[in-house]
Amino acid sequence: MLSGYLILKNIRTTQRLLRNFSSDTKFFKVEVVSSNRKTPLQPQRKSIAPRFEKKTRQKISDYLKQMATPEIEAQLAPLRAAVKEYGDLIRDLKAKQAPKIDIDKAVVELKARKKLLEETEIALAPKEASFDRLKLEDLLKRRFFYDQSFAIYGGVTGLYDFGPMGCALKANMLQQWRKHFILEEGMLEVDCTSLTPEPVLKASGHVDRFADWMVKDTKNGECFRADHLIKNSIEKLMNDKKVSAEVKKDGEDVLARLEGFDDKDMHEVITRFKFKSPITGNDLTEPIAFNLMFPTQIGPTGDFKAFLRPETAQGIFVNFKRLLEFNQGKLPFAAAQIGLGFRNEISPRQGLIRVREFTMCEIEHFVDPEDKRFPKFAKVADEKLVLFSACNQLDGAPAREVAIGEAVANKTVANETLGYYMARCHQFLMKVGIDGRRLRFRQHLSNEMAHYAQDCWDAEILTSYGWIECVGNADRACYDLQQHYKATNVKLVAEKKLPEPVDVDIVEAQANMALLGKKYKKEAKKIQTALQQLTSEQVTAIEQELLAKKLYNLDINGEKFELAPDLVNIKKYSKKIHVQEITPSVIEPSYGIGRIMYALLEHSFRQREGDEQRTFLAFKPLVAPIKCSILPISANDTLVPVMDAVKEELSHYELSYKVDDSSGTIGRRYARTDEIGIPFGITVDFESGKTTPYTVTIRHAETMSQIRLEVSELGRLISDLVSGRQQWSDAQAKYPKFEASAE
Ligand code: AMP
Repeated sequence: MLSGYLILKNIRTTQRLLRNFSSDTKFFKVEVVSSNRKTPLQPQRKSIAPRFEKKTRQKISDYLKQMATPEIEAQLAPLRAAVKEYGDLIRDLKAKQAPKIDIDKAVVELKARKKLLEETEIALAPKEASFDRLKLEDLLKRRFFYDQSFAIYGGVTGLYDFGPMGCALKANMLQQWRKHFILEEGMLEVDCTSLTPEPVLKASGHVDRFADWMVKDTKNGECFRADHLIKNSIEKLMNDKKVSAEVKKDGEDVLARLEGFDDKDMHEVITRFKFKSPITGNDLTEPIAFNLMFPTQIGPTGDFKAFLRPETAQGIFVNFKRLLEFNQGKLPFAAAQIGLGFRNEISPRQGLIRVREFTMCEIEHFVDPEDKRFPKFAKVADEKLVLFSACNQLDGAPAREVAIGEAVANKTVANETLGYYMARCHQFLMKVGIDGRRLRFRQHLSNEMAHYAQDCWDAEILTSYGWIECVGNADRACYDLQQHYKATNVKLVAEKKLPEPVDVDIVEAQANMALLGKKYKKEAKKIQTALQQLTSEQVTAIEQELLAKKLYNLDINGEKFELAPDLVNIKKYSKKIHVQEITPSVIEPSYGIGRIMYALLEHSFRQREGDEQRTFLAFKPLVAPIKCSILPISANDTLVPVMDAVKEELSHYELSYKVDDSSGTIGRRYARTDEIGIPFGITVDFESGKTTPYTVTIRHAETMSQIRLEVSELGRLISDLVSGRQQWSDAQAKYPKFEASAE
């Protein structure tokens, strides 16, 4: 790790130096000083490089507002203050109707100060700040990573098809997820259906509450997700110079609290700020709840109502009993499922980030609610995560890097099991290639969480769309299992051995089915189930009321049933118990693979220094869709035996490859394979077959450096590079460098 302090006079030099730092360079303190020492704020007169046009400069500036390190912030703060000073001065001069010449002079100085701020931002900003989304999208479309579904019919928003590269990337990510969680943590994997009967989702709360607030254009009926409309409208307002600082402050305040808003809060904001339809400028309706599930029916009669599952989790809960049995009745254990989730998003946008059908990887970790320690927690306790706690969000304080052990010890994170999964989530995201500097864990505010949830931390990744929730890590307490028990009367509990057997007094309410059946017909069964589910305390209360009033009104989800004493028998007895029945708590990490994949594509996207048109994807070899390309230098037949030997060697090690024997120059062919993120290019040249054993070169796409080695060593080396057992620098140290002509 390098760190240090540089004083640089030239912005371009700074820029170049910053670009050249290796990824493990922590930070360099960079001070940009004007050539005129007396007036440090005097601007550089050098022109800005053409690629930094106004839009890009704005992007860089916005990026730094979110992502500046304290060191960078320290450099920018005085320059921002200097700009503000002259902005205020000009306003003041105008208000006092000062002479035009004074105002003009001040404007010249303000422009100069702004320019210096911009140039400094450009010099200090990391590469990704000027990320060009259009270029990435162009690449992804051209090389068919993914594209809108049914494009030849005009496409459907929120639906995407993956092409060969997208498919392979996704498959590799899923393979790593399976390894990282299911294999390494010994989880029980299930594969449940997407079609889900209505009662299951009624019990889970999805039928009643899985909804987003939507507002409609009062004239043309166009629909908008209310919170998104507010967010976008406020962001627009923030960039409007005519809007007062007071209103902007109010807007900022709304943005900070938006996640926890209900319909009334949103309506109040829309009315107060006078927000309109962003498309037509028409008025908007009050927010209305729109359920996101896709309804359907099973079978031909149309009577069996169902939905496409909005998450995979319910499949695990309904199989809890079998899974517990499979685990010999022991807690804790975790089950996992990889599969599709379907959500009828109101206004899907931002490509893969908000879609209507997406692959989820979900874990349900069942644990004793009284003991959420995690046996392997010590292994991750020192791991540092960037935590954006609820307190930080409310105080307007930045996220902080904290060891997860410390965060659990001081109760910032509720318990070890949740903390463990957050650390493992961090490891997984880093393993597949997410940039750690653009990853944080944001805690849900209390009004953002479901009432039963105990704590929830989203892994958010910074993309050009802002911070995006890619993984939810939640402690959902006992809610889900209890709900399915209530709906089915199938006990979803585990047994916990008591230290010593104890005598307990049982009080039960038993339904008199003969009389109940006469009075309530079909409803009798429901009443019997409800009575069986009552606790001893509840039964005692009923007994007292029956004695006092000779009547009890049983409430089942709002429906009232009158019970006279002859309909219910109260039974009391004593029992020695050796085990206690507990409903396990559930810790649920829920991964959206499409979002992680999109973030990964952004974080892996590169433009060649000095040739910005040459774009490529620098994937970690572990997840790269294809590991190697094989490029014969010419179509000459003499190369064929070497090519065959290379293919055989790679197949032996189960390494995927793509042969590019097209007629383009080798440089052009390298560029083509770089674009689809192939990390290693194997070139078969005229030297290759001259010696036995054959030799070839391997080119590392990211650095474009090459080494030469025997074909028989290829498979092992590339396998090691893919798995991370060896780095490219290790290979460079071991094998002779190959000097290729400039590409
Ligand atoms: P949730 O159950 O809402 O916490 O979602 C779990 C994960 O699914 C999120 O962290 C996202 O990664 C992903 N996800 C949720 N909704 C969508 C969507 N409409 N499109 C793509 N991914 C989604």
